[in-house]
Amino acid sequence: DDFASLGLSAPLLAALKRAGHARPSPIQQAAIPALLAGRDLIATAQTGSGKTAAYALPILHELSQMPAAAPDQPDVRPIRALVLVPTRELASQVAATFRTFGRDLSLRTRIIAGGMKRAAQLASVLDGCDIAVATCGRLLDLLDGGELQLDALRILVLDEADQMLDQDSLQAMASISAYLPARRQTILCSATMPDAVLQIARRLMHDPLPVDA
Ligand code: AMP
Repeated sequence: DDFASLGLSAPLLAALKRAGHARPSPIQQAAIPALLAGRDLIATAQTGSGKTAAYALPILHELSQMPAAAPDQPDVRPIRALVLVPTRELASQVAATFRTFGRDLSLRTRIIAGGMKRAAQLASVLDGCDIAVATCGRLLDLLDGGELQLDALRILVLDEADQMLDQDSLQAMASISAYLPARRQTILCSATMPDAVLQIARRLMHDPLPVDA
Protein backbone atom coordinates (compact mmCIF):
# COMPACT_ATOMS: atom_id res chain seq x y z
CA ASP A 1 0.00 0.00 0.00
CA ASP A 2 2.38 2.66 -1.22
CA PHE A 3 2.10 5.02 -4.19
CA ALA A 4 4.55 3.01 -6.32
CA SER A 5 2.25 -0.02 -6.32
CA LEU A 6 -0.62 2.09 -7.71
CA GLY A 7 1.11 2.46 -11.09
CA LEU A 8 2.17 6.13 -11.04
CA SER A 9 5.21 7.26 -13.02
CA ALA A 10 8.61 8.08 -11.44
CA PRO A 11 8.31 11.91 -11.63
CA LEU A 12 5.00 11.73 -9.75
CA LEU A 13 6.45 9.38 -7.12
CA ALA A 14 9.29 11.86 -6.66
CA ALA A 15 6.82 14.74 -6.30
CA LEU A 16 4.86 12.78 -3.68
CA LYS A 17 8.04 12.17 -1.78
CA ARG A 18 8.93 15.89 -1.91
CA ALA A 19 5.44 16.73 -0.63
CA GLY A 20 5.94 14.31 2.26
CA HIS A 21 3.01 12.08 1.29
CA ALA A 22 4.25 8.64 2.32
CA ARG A 23 1.09 6.60 1.88
CA PRO A 24 -2.03 6.92 -0.28
CA SER A 25 -5.22 7.85 1.57
CA PRO A 26 -8.18 5.41 1.22
CA ILE A 27 -9.74 7.38 -1.63
CA GLN A 28 -6.38 7.54 -3.42
CA GLN A 29 -5.94 3.77 -3.04
CA ALA A 30 -9.32 3.12 -4.59
CA ALA A 31 -9.38 5.85 -7.22
CA ILE A 32 -5.88 5.94 -8.71
CA PRO A 33 -5.75 2.41 -10.23
CA ALA A 34 -9.32 2.73 -11.56
CA LEU A 35 -8.59 6.10 -13.14
CA LEU A 36 -5.32 4.86 -14.68
CA ALA A 37 -7.38 2.03 -16.19
CA GLY A 38 -9.59 4.63 -17.85
CA ARG A 39 -12.75 4.21 -15.81
CA ASP A 40 -15.28 6.88 -14.92
CA LEU A 41 -15.47 7.42 -11.17
CA ILE A 42 -18.02 8.86 -8.76
CA ALA A 43 -16.46 9.59 -5.38
CA THR A 44 -18.21 10.50 -2.16
CA ALA A 45 -15.35 12.47 -0.64
CA GLN A 46 -14.94 15.24 1.92
CA THR A 47 -12.34 17.97 1.90
CA GLY A 48 -9.32 16.56 3.71
CA SER A 49 -9.72 13.06 2.25
CA GLY A 50 -7.01 13.67 -0.33
CA LYS A 51 -9.56 13.80 -3.17
CA THR A 52 -7.67 16.42 -5.17
CA ALA A 53 -4.53 14.31 -5.45
CA ALA A 54 -6.73 11.26 -6.11
CA TYR A 55 -7.72 12.72 -9.49
CA ALA A 56 -4.77 15.07 -10.13
CA LEU A 57 -2.11 12.32 -10.01
CA PRO A 58 -3.76 10.01 -12.60
CA ILE A 59 -4.55 13.00 -14.85
CA LEU A 60 -0.91 14.16 -14.74
CA HIS A 61 0.22 10.57 -15.38
CA GLU A 62 -2.09 10.11 -18.37
CA LEU A 63 -1.44 13.50 -19.99
CA SER A 64 2.32 13.21 -19.64
CA GLN A 65 2.20 9.94 -21.58
CA MET A 66 0.27 11.22 -24.59
CA PRO A 67 1.28 13.81 -27.20
CA ALA A 68 0.27 17.38 -26.27
CA ALA A 69 -0.58 18.49 -29.78
CA ALA A 70 -2.34 16.97 -32.77
CA PRO A 71 0.13 15.82 -35.47
CA ASP A 72 -1.39 18.18 -38.06
CA GLN A 73 -1.35 21.18 -35.68
CA PRO A 74 1.95 21.03 -33.78
CA ASP A 75 1.69 24.66 -32.56
CA VAL A 76 -1.68 24.26 -30.94
CA ARG A 77 -1.68 22.92 -27.43
CA PRO A 78 -5.33 22.39 -26.55
CA ILE A 79 -7.02 21.72 -23.21
CA ARG A 80 -6.96 17.98 -22.53
CA ALA A 81 -8.20 17.97 -18.93
CA LEU A 82 -10.89 20.24 -17.48
CA VAL A 83 -11.72 20.52 -13.77
CA LEU A 84 -14.99 22.32 -13.01
CA VAL A 85 -15.21 23.78 -9.51
CA PRO A 86 -17.78 25.94 -7.69
CA THR A 87 -15.49 28.80 -6.62
CA ARG A 88 -12.43 30.76 -7.63
CA GLU A 89 -10.81 29.89 -4.28
CA LEU A 90 -11.14 26.18 -4.96
CA ALA A 91 -9.87 26.73 -8.51
CA SER A 92 -6.63 28.20 -7.20
CA GLN A 93 -6.19 25.39 -4.65
CA VAL A 94 -6.76 22.71 -7.28
CA ALA A 95 -4.44 24.44 -9.76
CA ALA A 96 -1.75 24.61 -7.06
CA THR A 97 -2.04 20.85 -6.51
CA PHE A 98 -1.59 20.15 -10.24
CA ARG A 99 1.42 22.48 -10.38
CA THR A 100 3.07 20.97 -7.29
CA PHE A 101 2.77 17.37 -8.45
CA GLY A 102 3.40 18.20 -12.10
CA ARG A 103 6.50 20.29 -11.53
CA ASP A 104 8.77 18.00 -13.59
CA LEU A 105 6.27 17.09 -16.32
CA SER A 106 6.12 20.22 -18.52
CA LEU A 107 2.34 20.33 -18.44
CA ARG A 108 0.60 23.69 -18.15
CA THR A 109 -2.23 24.37 -15.72
CA ARG A 110 -4.36 27.48 -16.15
CA ILE A 111 -7.31 28.93 -14.23
CA ILE A 112 -10.44 30.10 -16.03
CA ALA A 113 -12.59 32.04 -13.57
CA GLY A 114 -14.55 35.24 -13.13
CA GLY A 115 -12.97 38.16 -11.32
CA MET A 116 -9.81 38.00 -13.42
CA LYS A 117 -9.17 39.97 -16.62
CA ARG A 118 -10.99 38.17 -19.39
CA ALA A 119 -8.62 38.96 -22.27
CA ALA A 120 -5.45 38.13 -20.33
CA GLN A 121 -6.98 34.91 -19.13
CA LEU A 122 -8.02 33.86 -22.62
CA ALA A 123 -4.55 34.69 -23.97
CA SER A 124 -2.86 32.59 -21.29
CA VAL A 125 -5.10 29.64 -22.14
CA LEU A 126 -4.65 29.97 -25.90
CA ASP A 127 -0.90 30.21 -25.36
CA GLY A 128 -1.00 26.51 -24.45
CA CYS A 129 -2.95 24.88 -21.66
CA ASP A 130 -3.02 21.18 -20.89
CA ILE A 131 -5.12 21.35 -17.74
CA ALA A 132 -7.81 24.00 -17.18
CA VAL A 133 -9.35 24.54 -13.76
CA ALA A 134 -12.53 26.52 -14.29
CA THR A 135 -15.66 27.95 -12.79
CA CYS A 136 -18.72 27.43 -14.98
CA GLY A 137 -19.69 31.03 -15.73
CA ARG A 138 -16.45 32.33 -17.25
CA LEU A 139 -15.79 29.08 -19.10
CA LEU A 140 -19.22 29.13 -20.70
CA ASP A 141 -18.75 32.78 -21.62
CA LEU A 142 -15.57 31.89 -23.58
CA LEU A 143 -17.16 28.82 -25.18
CA ASP A 144 -20.31 30.67 -26.27
CA GLY A 145 -18.12 33.45 -27.67
CA GLY A 146 -16.39 30.89 -29.89
CA GLU A 147 -13.04 31.92 -28.40
CA LEU A 148 -12.25 28.58 -26.81
CA GLN A 149 -12.76 24.99 -27.97
CA LEU A 150 -12.82 21.75 -26.00
CA ASP A 151 -12.57 19.34 -28.93
CA ALA A 152 -9.35 17.77 -27.61
CA LEU A 153 -10.69 17.17 -24.11
CA ARG A 154 -9.89 13.69 -22.72
CA ILE A 155 -10.77 14.03 -19.04
CA LEU A 156 -13.52 15.99 -17.25
CA VAL A 157 -13.67 16.43 -13.47
CA LEU A 158 -16.61 17.86 -11.54
CA ASP A 159 -15.28 18.67 -8.07
CA GLU A 160 -17.56 19.56 -5.14
CA ALA A 161 -20.50 18.83 -7.42
CA ASP A 162 -22.98 19.32 -4.58
CA GLN A 163 -21.87 22.97 -4.44
CA MET A 164 -22.91 23.47 -8.08
CA LEU A 165 -26.63 22.71 -7.76
CA ASP A 166 -28.01 26.25 -7.99
CA GLN A 167 -29.97 27.02 -11.18
CA ASP A 168 -27.16 29.08 -12.76
CA SER A 169 -24.54 26.36 -12.26
CA LEU A 170 -26.86 23.54 -13.40
CA GLN A 171 -27.74 25.51 -16.51
CA ALA A 172 -24.09 26.33 -17.20
CA MET A 173 -22.99 22.69 -16.73
CA ALA A 174 -25.67 21.52 -19.15
CA SER A 175 -24.54 24.09 -21.72
CA ILE A 176 -20.83 23.27 -21.23
CA SER A 177 -21.50 19.56 -21.71
CA ALA A 178 -22.68 20.27 -25.25
CA TYR A 179 -19.14 21.49 -26.09
CA LEU A 180 -17.43 18.33 -24.81
CA PRO A 181 -16.37 15.36 -26.92
CA ALA A 182 -18.52 12.31 -26.17
CA ARG A 183 -15.48 10.06 -25.83
CA ARG A 184 -13.80 11.10 -22.58
CA GLN A 185 -13.18 10.02 -19.03
CA THR A 186 -15.38 11.69 -16.40
CA ILE A 187 -14.74 11.97 -12.65
CA LEU A 188 -17.22 13.38 -10.12
CA CYS A 189 -16.41 14.23 -6.48
CA SER A 190 -19.00 15.33 -3.99
CA ALA A 191 -19.26 15.46 -0.20
CA THR A 192 -22.92 14.40 -0.40
CA MET A 193 -24.88 12.53 -3.09
CA PRO A 194 -28.33 14.11 -3.37
CA ASP A 195 -30.56 13.12 -6.31
CA ALA A 196 -29.53 16.19 -8.30
CA VAL A 197 -25.88 15.05 -8.23
CA LEU A 198 -26.81 11.51 -9.24
CA GLN A 199 -28.80 12.93 -12.16
CA ILE A 200 -25.74 14.87 -13.35
CA ALA A 201 -23.73 11.65 -13.05
CA ARG A 202 -26.27 9.69 -15.09
CA ARG A 203 -26.22 12.33 -17.81
CA LEU A 204 -22.46 12.84 -18.03
CA MET A 205 -20.89 9.52 -17.03
CA HIS A 206 -20.48 6.04 -18.44
CA ASP A 207 -20.69 3.13 -15.99
CA PRO A 208 -18.96 5.04 -13.15
CA LEU A 209 -17.17 3.16 -10.38
CA PRO A 210 -18.53 4.34 -7.02
CA VAL A 211 -15.93 5.08 -4.35
CA ASP A 212 -16.83 6.06 -0.80
CA ALA A 213 -13.93 7.28 1.29
P1 AMP B 1 -8.02 17.42 -0.20
O1 AMP B 1 -8.91 16.36 0.39
O2 AMP B 1 -7.71 17.18 -1.62
O3 AMP B 1 -8.58 18.80 0.05
O4 AMP B 1 -6.58 17.34 0.54
C1 AMP B 1 -6.42 17.61 1.90
C2 AMP B 1 -4.94 17.74 2.32
O5 AMP B 1 -4.34 16.45 2.44
C3 AMP B 1 -4.06 18.50 1.37
O6 AMP B 1 -3.40 19.51 2.11
C4 AMP B 1 -3.05 17.51 0.84
O7 AMP B 1 -1.78 18.10 0.68
C5 AMP B 1 -3.03 16.44 1.89
N1 AMP B 1 -2.79 15.09 1.34
C6 AMP B 1 -3.35 14.58 0.21
N2 AMP B 1 -2.95 13.30 0.02
C7 AMP B 1 -2.14 12.99 1.07
C8 AMP B 1 -1.41 11.81 1.45
N3 AMP B 1 -1.47 10.70 0.72
N4 AMP B 1 -0.67 11.86 2.58
C9 AMP B 1 -0.62 12.99 3.31
N5 AMP B 1 -1.28 14.12 3.03
C10 AMP B 1 -2.03 14.14 1.91
